[in-house]
Parts: sequence; structure tokens; C-alpha cells
Amino acid sequence: MTIGKNRISFFTLTLIWVAFTSATAVAAASLPADRNDDVEWYPVSNNVYQLRYENHYTMFIVTDKGIVAFDPLSDEAAEHYVHAIKTVAPGQPLLAIIYSHWHTDHATGANVLRREFGNDVPIIAHERTLARLKELDDETVPLPTRTVNDKGKSLRFGNTDIELHYIGYGHTDTLLVARLPKQRLVYVVDFASRDSVGWREMPGWPLDELIAMQRRLLELDFDKVAFGHGRAGPGDRETIKRQTLYYENLLAETRTAIQEGLSEDDAVIRATHDLPQYRGWGNYRRWFQLNVRGAYRWVQENEHLPKSP
Ligand SMILES: [Zn+2]
Repeated sequence: MTIGKNRISFFTLTLIWVAFTSATAVAAASLPADRNDDVEWYPVSNNVYQLRYENHYTMFIVTDKGIVAFDPLSDEAAEHYVHAIKTVAPGQPLLAIIYSHWHTDHATGANVLRREFGNDVPIIAHERTLARLKELDDETVPLPTRTVNDKGKSLRFGNTDIELHYIGYGHTDTLLVARLPKQRLVYVVDFASRDSVGWREMPGWPLDELIAMQRRLLELDFDKVAFGHGRAGPGDRETIKRQTLYYENLLAETRTAIQEGLSEDDAVIRATHDLPQYRGWGNYRRWFQLNVRGAYRWVQENEHLPKSP
């Protein structure tokens, strides 16, 4: 990782709130949610919608000048995304696409949105997302046309302010957190999920930084969280705290196991017994034990704990 921990800075800004008066937006927010097994979308705040495609969620905002769409997810998902946008806000232009980070399971699909709304729709992302995607050279993932550095950026689209914050390298060094100050909502992808365990063995995840990043998130002012993964619907500040506690518990369990000389397999057995509170979480059956293995290996490689005599 090339990003210094001390370079993270939050920008400050003074915002003049614009009264929420858009008749179009009011009508859109009152539409019923639409869903089938693979796809659903629903409002999570004034003029803000989450769209789920299979296990991925994204978010779009209806401003009085048009739509701002986050991660298009995939070409297939983006077809549904177009339908959702046109249903919620018929006839509205797409003002921008914003990639949360470079991972292609979130960033793919902008070609489909642009085909529908115009090839000149800007794509906004962190500057290192641009660098990664240039290296990737995949025509299904069009490159960002405007970039944001570690200082973040405050954007305004019509009556809607969107702040983009870089708060750490806990999940790639390219991830932006979007905050909508008026809606008191943040969009959080991959470094925290809604009451769900981590992905498989959490390969390459710097767990100390992941936890630090979740804590930095709580320094931002918000009430609601739209997540990229996990249980449906928005979360809140407590959801983030539960995520942090989960990773802290995983690390504490595996630290103790390593200090006591337990093997990885035995650490898995004990953590499964010791942490029953996560049995109802998303992906527990699939990935909890893999999470313990990942945490065990991460602690071994990074903390060099002395074994108990
Ligand atoms: Zn990711």
C-alpha cells in the first residue's frame, strides 16, 4: 500500500441548504418499491434510492436537475438500473456516474447507462481508481473522466450536495465514501456491510485499517447508511458499530488462539462456539469459518504475538 495513514484529511465545507421543493422528486419518492428475486429498488431517504441486483446494492439520487447514479455493478444490473431510473424519474437526464472504488463487481456497467443516457455522462472516481482501471484495460469498465484525490471533494448537482471522502485503505486505496449532508446519509461499499460477515477469508484485507476506517466513518455526520452489501434496507450508526465489534471479536478470538498455541482448525471450532451472536448474520454459514481462518492468518502474519508459556 502506498498511502500514508497520516495523509487522510476531511474537508470542511459550508453549505447553504436549498429547500426541498422539487415536485418531480416528491412524486418519485412516493412511488412504491419495485422488486423481484434478483432486482429491487426502494427509497432510503428523500430522493435517494437503493437498487439491489442479486447480492450487490447501489444507490441513485434524484435531484431537481437529473439523476446521479453510483456503481452500475454489471452490464446485466445496469439494464435494470436504467429501468429503475426511468420508472422513478421519467425523462430525467443522468448527470453523473460515480464509482465507489475500482473493483469491477461494482464499477462495471457504465456503458449501458451511457448508451441510454448519453456517451458524455461524466464518470467520477478516485484518481487511483482511474490508474487501476487503465492498467486493467477492460472495455466493459469505462474510465473515470473526473477524479478525486485523498482530500475528497464536495459536488453539487442541482439542489443536491454530495461529498466524496477518502477515509483509508481498508478496502483498496481507491474507495470513496459519499455523504449526502441534507439527507444525513452515507453510501458505504465493501469495508462495512449491513449485519453480514466478511467475504470468504478476507484476502488482502488489512484488518487493522479496516477497523480504523470504520471508526473514521463514524467521525462523519450522518444517521443513515446505504450499504453495498448485506441485509436489505439502510442501516445506521449502530450498524457500523456492530461491524467494528465483529472484526474486533474475530481478531481477539484468533489472537488468544494463537497465543495459546491452537491450530487454525481448532481456532475455527472455538470461535464458532464463542461467537454465537453472529449466527443470524448474512453469509454466516458460507463465510464465518473462512473469516476466522483469514483473521488467524492475518494476526499470524502481522502481529507476531508471543505464545503463552
Ligand atoms: Zn470491493
